[in-house]
Amino acid sequence: MTALHHTTSFIELSQEALAANLAFIRSRLTTGATFYSVVKGNAYGHGIKEFVTMAKSCGVGHFAVFSADEAWHVAQVDGPRPEIMIMGMIDEAQMTWAIEEGHSFFVFNRERLKQAFDLGKRIGKPARIHLEVETGMNRTGLDDAALQEALQLLNTHPEALQWEGICTHLAGAESIGNYVRIKKQHIQFQKTVKFAKANCQQQPASIHEACSAAMMRYPKTHWDLVRIGILQYGFFPNRETFIEYITQSEEPIADPLRRIISWKSRVMDTKMVPAGEFVGYGSSYLANAPIKVAQIPVGYGHGYSRNLSNQGRVLIRGHRVNVIGMVNMNMIQVDVSEIPEIFVGDEVVLIGRQGDQEISVSSFSEYSDQINYELLTRLPQAIERRIIT
Ligand SMILES: *Cc1c(COP(=O)(O)O)cnc(C)c1O
Repeated sequence: MTALHHTTSFIELSQEALAANLAFIRSRLTTGATFYSVVKGNAYGHGIKEFVTMAKSCGVGHFAVFSADEAWHVAQVDGPRPEIMIMGMIDEAQMTWAIEEGHSFFVFNRERLKQAFDLGKRIGKPARIHLEVETGMNRTGLDDAALQEALQLLNTHPEALQWEGICTHLAGAESIGNYVRIKKQHIQFQKTVKFAKANCQQQPASIHEACSAAMMRYPKTHWDLVRIGILQYGFFPNRETFIEYITQSEEPIADPLRRIISWKSRVMDTKMVPAGEFVGYGSSYLANAPIKVAQIPVGYGHGYSRNLSNQGRVLIRGHRVNVIGMVNMNMIQVDVSEIPEIFVGDEVVLIGRQGDQEISVSSFSEYSDQINYELLTRLPQAIERRIIT
């Protein structure tokens, strides 16, 4: 039995859509800036192995991840050796691996600075470090004193530490409400970069500040490297950045991005429910008339949020039909009374297109009160991913 790995639903990934998104990103980039594809969170739920495979075949050679285990997955993918940058968690054993393999990582406190220095020295190969500096997000980042310490070590021990980059992260570039805070961060970052460069014999290979929202809104944050996540998957960071983009000229502008992901399943069963009966657990849905119900083998245990109870929509045979009753752990029920003929095994689209209908991730995330990022990254790793052209 080899089919045991088939899951009750599957995710399709469109290579063509990715190519279009990458072309758009490249068209917006300041000349010379290197594009790092951010693939943390299982490539925003798309599947890290499949997504990196697709990106590599589009010519992407630079990837950024949150943790060292994600870096390991990127490194396993066939093809030319990519540059890998670890922006978050890395423990000692992993750091040893990263230094030996030549992957770069963020240094944002004294402990990590010391660890990188000690290991670089011991291994006899310099750790490639990005100094992440505090500019006002107040999450991770070196303060002035720790930065000076880092610069001193870079000065005196180039055999243990190689200055790969200096960087910061902006605290919400997608919302105009954060404009003043973001501007202040940018000004602070400019000052810090100037100071750091003036106080070190080594110079950073790159300076970086921008995520997707900053790339779209604040071209001065491109420097020579950008870290792009959500845009490459075909989503604007939020509605505000989308509207700002499409309303920038008098002429109507179409959405330049294409969704890569579709999520599909199949009808597992159907049944008639007489008028006056409740459907599923409890009493949240009453059949006011005789209805036909289909059971779909996808539930909150598969990432289909319980908030979609009596709210969600799916596509079957080109019809947009409603989820009725509660989302169960492994199942939803939909009212298919309007579909003349329906069979067990019929395709069900949870996210994506069927005929001329579409269930968008954003409508889905509005119904379920999640942001795109959250909905996508909650799609379980176990769901099978299939790459299509
Ligand atoms: C996630 C992340 C990004 C990418 O953010 P998007 O909004 O998806 O483009 C960039 N930089 C850092 C430090 C991140 O953690």
